[in-house]
Amino acid sequence: MSIPSLDDLRAIGAAQQPTYADVAARDAAVETLRKMPPLVFAGECDDLRERLAAVSRGEAFLLQGGDCAETFEGVTAENVRNKLRVLLSMAVVLTYAASVPVVKVGRLAGQYAKPRSSDTETRDGVTLPAYRGDAVNGFDFTPESRVHDPQRLVDVYHASSATLNLARAFTTGGYADLRQMHAWNTDFVKRSPVGVSYERIGAEIDRALAFMDAIGVDPDEFHSVDFYSSHEALILEYEHALTRIDSRTELPYDVSGHFVWIGERTRQLDGAHVELLSHIANPIGVKLGPTTTPDDAIALYEKLNPERVPGRITFVTRFGAGKIRDLLPHLVEKVTAAGVEVAWVCDPMHGNTFEAESGYKTREFDDVVDEVRGFFEVHHSLGTWPGGLHVELTGDDVTECVGGGAKLSAADLSHRYETLCDPRLNREQSLELAFLVAEMLSK
Ligand code: PEP
Ligand code: MN
Repeated sequence: MSIPSLDDLRAIGAAQQPTYADVAARDAAVETLRKMPPLVFAGECDDLRERLAAVSRGEAFLLQGGDCAETFEGVTAENVRNKLRVLLSMAVVLTYAASVPVVKVGRLAGQYAKPRSSDTETRDGVTLPAYRGDAVNGFDFTPESRVHDPQRLVDVYHASSATLNLARAFTTGGYADLRQMHAWNTDFVKRSPVGVSYERIGAEIDRALAFMDAIGVDPDEFHSVDFYSSHEALILEYEHALTRIDSRTELPYDVSGHFVWIGERTRQLDGAHVELLSHIANPIGVKLGPTTTPDDAIALYEKLNPERVPGRITFVTRFGAGKIRDLLPHLVEKVTAAGVEVAWVCDPMHGNTFEAESGYKTREFDDVVDEVRGFFEVHHSLGTWPGGLHVELTGDDVTECVGGGAKLSAADLSHRYETLCDPRLNREQSLELAFLVAEMLSK
């Protein structure tokens, strides 16, 4: 399979790309990236694809989560560790309560570029280029910071490498031991209703582990977890430079992450993103918003997976709580009738964003839960499998989404609003969501 060149892709036309004034600097950054070692291995991508095939058959559940946009400043041990902890804690809740294998995928180690609805941002009468994520420009509202700088793509590689190194050590080095997970959330167990439920599951797992110990069973699975990385494949220069031919299979893989997805704004059938990703062998996702017709989805599937490789395509629907029950049935029904087998995953975040009166971009926890409920209802009624959850979250106790057990109000948003892009569920809201989803899964 030959891969189109970057120039071919540029000629096809791609939405949401940076504009680099210095073309020589852009090309130099691409050349630097081409020489870098892979961040992930093709064989790992194949393993994930097989797990996602199990999701599409209704035998496993995908949990995918992390920041809307990672930042270079956020590459600290504490930040990455907290995110991993909350994801793994959610996975434990889902696995234990629902008794299905949970495929764990971080929205991290590469999630540095953002599509934007407007190219510019205006504050107090001053208009500058919009912030497009640390992969492209700086968040500071100054002309210098907002310049699109290709050297940042090299910085993304190094930041992703550091993050992935920590994630690998954390998940396989004994730190993610089931016995320790119980201890991670003890600090908020006392004050939160979710904490009490978590404590109960933790105690039950401890008892089960003590029993296993007593009979001399101690499998590797208790000491490490399989964890994968993912991000939106947005900037063509970055993804193309990290696309390599695997010596084992002689197929091209995008080695910037195990799983990459195409966003709602860049999923044009004849666009460069779909073209590039049609040539790589990784498992890939496509975000589908409420305007997606069944024909759109089927055509995307045919183009991206003509050989119908199981596990290759995940459709991540993001309709909004108010639309999912009306619009999702038609899509799922028609796609299924066309013989297309995909993993259906719910992103309950991007269709439920609004601006609070104070000006903060936020999401209502109840809307998030309601979209997930709608997703389960639709799939249950059609006899298809609600295969997973794609969420924006952080392991820290931020105040970005309103509602939840702690009843965060719009007035609370200013306390700890730290995201540079979309609002994330905090640790408590994330765990609460996991309990609610576990309930839906076990029905
Ligand atoms: C995102 O996942 O951050 C995003 C921009 O989503 P979507 O493409 O679905 O709008
Ligand atoms: Mn987002």
